[in-house]
Amino acid sequence: MSEQERNQQPQDELKRLREEKDRLAEANQRLNEQMFELYTLYNISKKLAWSLELGELFNGVMNVIGESLKVDEYCLMLIDEPSRQLLIRASHGIREDLLLNANVSVGVGVSGKVAQSGEILHLPDISQVRDFFYYQGSNITQGSFLGVPLKLRNGKVIGVLNAHKPAPHAFSENDIRFFLAVAEHVAVAVEHALAFQQTKELSNRDELTNLYNRRYFFERFEKEVERAKRYERILSLIMIDIDHFKNYNDSFGHLMGDALLQKLAQIMEQNLRKADVLARYGGEEFFILLPETDKEQARQVAEKLRRTVEEYDFHADRTELQKGKVTITLGLASLPRDALEALSLLDLADKALYFGKAQGRNRVSDEVPEEKRGQA
Ligand code: GH3
Ligand code: MG
Ligand code: MG
Repeated sequence: MSEQERNQQPQDELKRLREEKDRLAEANQRLNEQMFELYTLYNISKKLAWSLELGELFNGVMNVIGESLKVDEYCLMLIDEPSRQLLIRASHGIREDLLLNANVSVGVGVSGKVAQSGEILHLPDISQVRDFFYYQGSNITQGSFLGVPLKLRNGKVIGVLNAHKPAPHAFSENDIRFFLAVAEHVAVAVEHALAFQQTKELSNRDELTNLYNRRYFFERFEKEVERAKRYERILSLIMIDIDHFKNYNDSFGHLMGDALLQKLAQIMEQNLRKADVLARYGGEEFFILLPETDKEQARQVAEKLRRTVEEYDFHADRTELQKGKVTITLGLASLPRDALEALSLLDLADKALYFGKAQGRNRVSDEVPEEKRGQA
């Protein structure tokens, strides 16, 4: 080995070690980034997996994205199927007053395009894009934009997750990959929350009439009574029972009886306000809860229902059934006038109803016979 060679050896070794150190530092940096992403995704899925309520879910999503993506403006839009509009359901960095009119139709603007195509849209430099449209009132004209579709497992697009950074070319390959993974988690969570909401809604409904069922009615009734008492509001209750329904079933059969219950439910629903809660209590008995309604107003509502049912031609197309005239009897009770407790109100409405039956049916009654008054 020459003198020169002997001097060269430690230098080569040093160079190799330096390069090795740089490689290790780089790998370490990459690992750190991946760890951070994995940790964030883990956090997101943990947070989202248990958010069965949509509102809670949206807050969860927004917080995690804000913490991990360092974007100044982002929003989650969901498609409203009837109108085919994208509605902002959660957002960060967007002025509240703009949110009200921020809806865009599927197919329109950047979010609309992502929703329509189901493809990710990355615009590294917005200033280079002609007619860039985000949402009504947005004054974004520069920076980077990233829109990712929210897709269900069956491929259906349910919304869009958008992010904006003020500088151009600000989303790295990593950011985009990460954002896609987040969107996947969010879509699954939204799917769960929607299914949960549907199941919950179904479990509140009566199968035959699709009105609220007894369980839901009690839950609501107790809540409304507590609320009315706390804020010193008024509230009325109407209990309804079909007259001689047994005869109707005996004459026309149970199936016709069922059809009548359905028709009756429809008629009542059409004659009530949105705030009123109409429920099938059982068999051929119904309850209506009327918030912010005093006894006199409730009497008018009840009388209108009674008359509408009496006059309704249930057998317009089946003349042989004309004799099956249908009438209902209704009992009333109001808070605070008659009672302050849910159960007492129920009891009073029930007694008034049966008093009405005794008086000859097809009438509205709020009278409780003298001998029963003390028992309410
Ligand atoms: P009243 O005027 O005193 O109320 O007489 P009614 O015959 O209506 O009263 P009753 O309580 O004796 O009978 C109620 C009948 O309602 C019994 C049953 O045949 C009928 N009914 C209850 N639930 C249903 C149902 O889901 N479908 C059908 N078709 N009939 C039902
Ligand atoms: Mg009955
Ligand atoms: Mg009856």
